[in-house]
Amino acid sequence: MVAEQKVFKMKGEMNKRTDEKILNYINGELCAPLSKLYLENYNPALGEVYSYLPDSDERDVEQAVEAAKKAFPIWSGYSIEERSNILMRLASLIEENLEFLAEVESIDNGKPIALARKVDIPRASANFKFFATAILHASSESHATNSQTLNYTLRQPIGVVGCISPWNLPLYLFSWKIAPALAAGNTVVAKPSEITPMSAYILSKLAVEAGFPAGVLNIVHGEGPKVGASIVEHLNVKAISFTGGTQTGATIAKIAAPMFKKLSLELGGKNPNIIFENCDFEKAVATSVRSSFSNQGQICLCGSRIFVQQSIYNHFKQAFKERCSLLKIGDPILEETQMGALVSKAHFEKVLSYIDLAKQEGGTILYGGKPVKVSGRCANGWFVEPTIIENLAYDCRTNQEEIFGPVVTLTPFENEEEVLAMANSTQYGLSATIWTKNLNKAHRIAQKIDAGIVWINCWLIRDLRTPFGGIKNSGVGREGGWEALRFFTEPKNVCIETND
Ligand code: NDP
Repeated sequence: MVAEQKVFKMKGEMNKRTDEKILNYINGELCAPLSKLYLENYNPALGEVYSYLPDSDERDVEQAVEAAKKAFPIWSGYSIEERSNILMRLASLIEENLEFLAEVESIDNGKPIALARKVDIPRASANFKFFATAILHASSESHATNSQTLNYTLRQPIGVVGCISPWNLPLYLFSWKIAPALAAGNTVVAKPSEITPMSAYILSKLAVEAGFPAGVLNIVHGEGPKVGASIVEHLNVKAISFTGGTQTGATIAKIAAPMFKKLSLELGGKNPNIIFENCDFEKAVATSVRSSFSNQGQICLCGSRIFVQQSIYNHFKQAFKERCSLLKIGDPILEETQMGALVSKAHFEKVLSYIDLAKQEGGTILYGGKPVKVSGRCANGWFVEPTIIENLAYDCRTNQEEIFGPVVTLTPFENEEEVLAMANSTQYGLSATIWTKNLNKAHRIAQKIDAGIVWINCWLIRDLRTPFGGIKNSGVGREGGWEALRFFTEPKNVCIETND
């Protein structure tokens, strides 16, 4: 933590293009935290501080909630077309700044710039467009009870809502919450992860340019237990949409539930990737490389437990290992890089500690398992090899706990029954992938598997209209499409008798 008065030394390319000090966005203004204190923000590929973010506290949250409360009657009173137009303007501004935002995201998070350019930033813009247009087509139910009685449902915005998001897909997930919340007519107090705050800061500048009325969107930066908790605890914040770890989700639920807040919790996963002998082998191998190591394995939907039918186990193992050895690890800002840095030193150490644990549990490292020393400017960055481990029991800690890094395990299985039992053995139930050409089998497994999302012969194809979320300890509620608009509105039943 540093005092505001300190003169900071600029480091790296980034500072030529963005501000060194990130600001909060409250009541339409970009402003310093009331504490005047800042936290260090790291470039994980370099392993060094490159900017500073507000160390905000409950006083900044108070101002943000106050502004959001004041703005609510104005924003919710806008016509649907007016709200839609402003959100579309923000989407266009994201598109116009795609290159810059991709660079920002890559530097802040350590992800390959090619991934940010192709996935993260286009998706952030798509999130705003999707909900800006969804509200133009939304309708609510009516129930004609009999010839004299009609029930209809009003879908009304809730008021001030809190949106809290993680570091792995910073702008992608931040906008996935903010967009439906605003589209539905709510005003928002949002907190991005303290570990990757930069793209949310750029978003606040774009929101100013898009012409949001003051207080409609407020972004408060800082630490989770301080800023995040203040949002969750605030009496005037009526709903919380949270994406992050299961433990944090439980802490939030404990506070919010007795206050009867609406809660949407998108939490951790330990997703099975099931490969049957009669699959399209080449496609299963190639896609499994992506589903294991995209974004350095830091996607909640990555398939970190790979189950392979015994008859093709050795063949798969060899082919998978070969494909992984071709992955280009290095400076995320280079176009050709396929795997960048892990997001922070703490996370880097956590991932390495799980690789040690796997060894202690009797696992064999089939590939990787070590930090990577990248030459040149990234010599001190937090890089880990894509790591494949086998010979572990399905119920050991390595196979049960979320690692959230470039580490996967391979486990052979004999039949459907056995693989289902192993796949369903964790506390999680976010997503699952099934590889088979036998459609009956695919449907059977899809029905029985503990997951909110099942991909058959593919991975990470997303249609924003579909319900997104997990079961068991992977979360409560669903995002996406009407599910999100339903979450961010209260249904009110109106019953009218037409007899005079
Ligand atoms: P965390 O749970 O640590 O943090 C998520 C967000 O919550 C951050 O903004 C964090 O702030 C904030 N936070 C932390 N403590 C509190 C608190 N007490 N009250 C309110 N807010 C708090 O998760 P990570 O950022 O480490 O993200 C990784 C996790 O997210 C993984 O478990 C992953 O599976 C999950 N995830 C789930 C997804 C899904 O859709 N199901 C999608 C993507 C990720 P700060 O960063 O400042 O600590």
